[in-house]
Amino acid sequence: MTAQPEQWIRNFVDGGFVDPDPGRAFPAVDPATGSAYARVHEADEELVDRAVRSARAALDAGWADSAVSARAALMRKVADRIEERFDEFVAAEIADTGKPITQARKLDVARAPMNFRAYADVVSAAGQDSFITETADGGRALNYAVRKPLGVVAIIVPWNLPLLLLTWKVAPALMSGNAVVVKPSEDTPATASLLAEVIAEVGVPRGVYNVVQGFGADSAGAFLTGHPGIDGVTFTGSSATGTHVMKTVAPRVRPVSLELGGKNAAVVFDDVDLGEAIDGLSRSIFTNTGQVCLCTERVYIQRGIFDDVVAGLVERAEKLRLGPPTDFDTTTGPLISQKHREKVQYYLDLAVQEGAQVLTGGGVPRMEGALAGGSWIEPTLWTGIANSARVMREEVFGPVAGLVPFDSEDEAIRLANDTEYGLAAAVWTNDLRRGHRVAQKMNVGMSWVNTWYLRDLRSPFGGVGLSGIGREGGEAALHFYTEPTNVCVAL
Ligand code: NAD
Repeated sequence: MTAQPEQWIRNFVDGGFVDPDPGRAFPAVDPATGSAYARVHEADEELVDRAVRSARAALDAGWADSAVSARAALMRKVADRIEERFDEFVAAEIADTGKPITQARKLDVARAPMNFRAYADVVSAAGQDSFITETADGGRALNYAVRKPLGVVAIIVPWNLPLLLLTWKVAPALMSGNAVVVKPSEDTPATASLLAEVIAEVGVPRGVYNVVQGFGADSAGAFLTGHPGIDGVTFTGSSATGTHVMKTVAPRVRPVSLELGGKNAAVVFDDVDLGEAIDGLSRSIFTNTGQVCLCTERVYIQRGIFDDVVAGLVERAEKLRLGPPTDFDTTTGPLISQKHREKVQYYLDLAVQEGAQVLTGGGVPRMEGALAGGSWIEPTLWTGIANSARVMREEVFGPVAGLVPFDSEDEAIRLANDTEYGLAAAVWTNDLRRGHRVAQKMNVGMSWVNTWYLRDLRSPFGGVGLSGIGREGGEAALHFYTEPTNVCVAL
């Protein structure tokens, strides 16, 4: 029998960590090596119920009515404290995901304090609508709306950018006066519990932030979304699970915010700066081993530059360095789990059956030493696939892309929009008017020109079609996290 890891990742309910139950434990696995590094206490239905009730009690005890300035001061303290404990967050994120340290430092953990500060600013500055109404009898009335917190918000997040996506929801929720119960992914439990330490250290009242660890079906995720005491669910994850969550809350008519999958396109015109476009495209295909909802999996390239762009992308793919996450020159980590690798491998095989030419990659790399047990995959590029092929229609969520030539602007727009998803797009061109024109015609929530994943946290984030419902980011988030009450006063 192999020894159990000593470290526990615990649930956080009503302002305190819950003593773990060894009978309800599952392993936290480092995907770079495949070894368990901690045990996670899986919350049962009773613990989830306690978490929801403690969130309600916190609202009633005054959090919902607390001053915005006081909440903003607390959120800024959370941000400061994350920065003070920056290396611990980086280590926790790396242990759970195997992502390279440079990315964990620059993207994942760096964004957490930014999220808290951005929403402290946005909510502090937000105004309310008001109207002077002229009545039929010649009189007047004043209409104004006051925002109130939604209440107890269930937050369910995936494993790809665990802390970044979690804080992207926790910050606006708490700034708006809600109390939250958070269910991180079973694959990445660490940073949500570490954030609980920070939340407690800076003096956020008990019950305002709760963490329940576990899986989806028949576990903490389902117990939480099915709980009658929640007032809304904000969910980031796959379209299939999002649909399920929506059905679960539908009988009680609770609002849902859904940030779901993507099958994102890039369109590259022949007037572009080749080097810049190839660098940007390569980043958009391979960042986080292709496990970002915004990653490009379809690249449409104008015929005259097709061969050059393809050659450049293959060169970039072959220069990526798969290796130990703690090495500063590692560019690319493993996939999140063996299970996810099986899914990606299925698509790698399917692409070949669907007629793809594999330009680079296509399989599992040979890794040395401890890394041999990790869930590694080769960065992979294909040509020769029809837009109707399943690998061009379904989200793979790995470091892969299909490269397709086009002739005209209209054709490029048609190909890019030929999808049931609608999260993000990137247009690469030096023609100013064409950049704006094509970017606006993309059926997506976010359209970039000559860049990718450049975010202003005040701008709306979300998708259309299978990619989701609602927008987060800036004031758009308040549409979900608050309920307006309109007051009409006859003058
Ligand atoms: P997933 O849907 O499998 O799981 C997401 C979360 O839902 C996890 O915490 C999981 O435990 C929970 N869950 C699963 N079944 C549940 C159920 N029945 N009830 C309640 N909760 C349940 O997704 P994943 O594999 O963790 O994440 C990858 C997906 O997330 C990809 O599709 C990706 O595109 C998407 N994603 C979207 C965005 C965005 O902003 N649009 C961002 C990141 C990831």
